[in-house]
Amino acid sequence: MKIAINGAGIAGTALAYWLGRLGHEVLLVERAPALRTGGYILNLWGVGYDAVERMGLLPQLLAQQYETDELRMVDRDGRTRGGYPSRALQTLANGRIASLARSDIAAAIHGALGDRVETIFDDSIATIDDDGMRAVVGFERAAAREVDLVIGADGLHSQVRRATFGADSRFEHAMGCHVASFEIAGYRPRDERLYVAHTAPGRYIARFPVRNDRTLIFMLVRDEYLSDMPRGGTDCKAALAGAFSNMGWECPAMLEALANADDVYFDSISQIRMDAWTKGRVALVGDSAACPSLIAGEGAGFALAQAYVLAGEIHDHPGDLDAALQRYQDRLKPYTLRKQRYAEGLVPSFVPKTELGIRARDMATLLMRLPVFPRLLMGRYFRDPMRLPDYAMP
Ligand SMILES: Cc1cc2nc3c(=O)[nH]c(=O)nc-3n(C[C@H](O)[C@H](O)[C@H](O)COP(=O)(O)OP(=O)(O)OC[C@H]3O[C@@H](n4cnc5c(N)ncnc54)[C@H](O)[C@@H]3O)c2cc1C
Repeated sequence: MKIAINGAGIAGTALAYWLGRLGHEVLLVERAPALRTGGYILNLWGVGYDAVERMGLLPQLLAQQYETDELRMVDRDGRTRGGYPSRALQTLANGRIASLARSDIAAAIHGALGDRVETIFDDSIATIDDDGMRAVVGFERAAAREVDLVIGADGLHSQVRRATFGADSRFEHAMGCHVASFEIAGYRPRDERLYVAHTAPGRYIARFPVRNDRTLIFMLVRDEYLSDMPRGGTDCKAALAGAFSNMGWECPAMLEALANADDVYFDSISQIRMDAWTKGRVALVGDSAACPSLIAGEGAGFALAQAYVLAGEIHDHPGDLDAALQRYQDRLKPYTLRKQRYAEGLVPSFVPKTELGIRARDMATLLMRLPVFPRLLMGRYFRDPMRLPDYAMP
């Protein structure tokens, strides 16, 4: 088949990888002028970890992982108030967890694409004319093409979803918070192998050392602390500066760095909930279909699992794309829905509303140092009720 995939993030590259391996002709379209670099660090475990292993990319990714010794919670004077050793997470995930830059995952998969995948950057699918058997896709720049299947792998604010299923507002469930992250060069203090976070009511800010003497700053803020609702990377700076201005710790230096940062990731923390992930000759994968939100912590894992299962079902249903698409959705949807419902209740532990809530959360994290507590407190977070199916893919 000829398949056009919009978005060369985690889901898009992974699906291109599997479909190319199956011998399909794949066009991968990415809005950015090149594969994105830097960006935030995420944890990969469960089905996502299994999926990169099945791609043969685990050794390469493990060589690129960020290893930490401890996650530390500090107060406004920098005194330790909570935290736990990272090995608690390793234990919960049975040693199968890795902290990786999102961009490193996508780049590793993109590097493994075979010659049946063509990538075009600096473009986007703009229109889809789908007659139920084939679809003509129009691009912002390139000439239109006729394909057998169109995939939306273009993230939380998917253009393919909008073009096929309707406005974002029908599917996006905002969780009442925004996230920001950016990198600073040469930031001090720098604590190698340490993730340090400070929380005030409704606001959370953390730093994490990354390669080349750069530090990743990560912010979570409840919407009521944002004076006006900024849209993009640049005009979020004033709103974030206002929200984090009186928080003590290293916030003044971090806000100064924010003011000078040229690449700030800023977005609403949202889930995408849809009744159907496919329609005619269009299918969605990754965040565009079922974003569980960063609070759920397994969006990348889901994206990798969805890509693998969609390719596997296409392989298992030769000549019957409708059945393959239906089976793809049936296999994964209950599992993603469960994760979304669970994540809804987790917002207060990431960004408590009150000082009392913060103290309770920090005390709980100290219990993570004791033997049974990691499983009691965070076992469910890391438990994957699903295993990747086996397909006889070449
Ligand atoms: C701060 C943060 C922390 C996170 N932590 C974790 C974690 O610990 N574990 C975890 O598993 N998940 C985590 N996630 C979630 C995870 O990053 C996402 O779920 C995952 O990246 C989804 O992959 P995707 O390919 O669907 O979307 P993305 O990775 O967002 O990729 C979408 C791609 O589509 C491109 N694109 C967008 N619009 C268009 C367009 N119109 N045309 C063409 N291309 C387009 C984008 O440039 C991008 O390359 C976190 C997310 C955030 C924001």
